[in-house]
Amino acid sequence: MEQKGQLDYLWQYQILDLKIDELEKKKKNCAARKELYKSIKYLKNQQESLIKLNENVDKKNHIYNRIYNEIQKISKKLKEEEEKINSGNIKTFKQLDQIEKKLLEMQEELNEKRKELTDLLEEMDSINKKLQGVSQRLRKGKKEYDKIKKEYDLVMKDVNEEYDEIKAQKDSIKEKLDNSLLKKYNAIKGNHKLAIAEIQQDRCGGCNMVLASLVVQNVRDKAGIIECENCGRILYLGSDTSAS
Ligand SMILES: [Zn+2]
Repeated sequence: MEQKGQLDYLWQYQILDLKIDELEKKKKNCAARKELYKSIKYLKNQQESLIKLNENVDKKNHIYNRIYNEIQKISKKLKEEEEKINSGNIKTFKQLDQIEKKLLEMQEELNEKRKELTDLLEEMDSINKKLQGVSQRLRKGKKEYDKIKKEYDLVMKDVNEEYDEIKAQKDSIKEKLDNSLLKKYNAIKGNHKLAIAEIQQDRCGGCNMVLASLVVQNVRDKAGIIECENCGRILYLGSDTSAS
């Protein structure tokens, strides 16, 4: 009598075990989870773009300051040379020519720098536009993420509740099972999805091999734990399934 009870428990235990496997698969493969990953990846990409653009802004600001300082320096020198002319201290045309030549060179340099600055400002403007775009996408992405996360949490709540319930049932049956039987079950489960197989029409429900009538008889008589000679699964006959 004892042995039959044990196998019945083990049979129930396996049913719950399979349900748990299924729920774990459901958790891993659920659409909400995939959507959530997609959303996280999108946000991450936008954040990376944001960091890169900000780095670029820093670089451009640095260049802007450099050019600005150069312009200040040249302007100052230019003023100094102009003052020399206005001071009335120029004695010869040669001196005047030299200063005027310098002034021309500086003016050209100044124009170049100003052109650089204008180009730079254009670049900075385009970076700022990109930054605005990324910020917008980030805001939108975060909203989308929140929405998906809510859906995901809802799905997971249901799955987890079901999981906890089945786990509790499984644990309570586990308490009733002999340790050695459980060990055997787990060892077989390492190789087969089903560790305990029901006998159906004198065949092993695991490998479908026709069983010797003595084996079937032994299972029916509850003569200990009987394994299938072919696949090694524990054989089981449900109480209401008289072998047909
Ligand atoms: Zn078998």
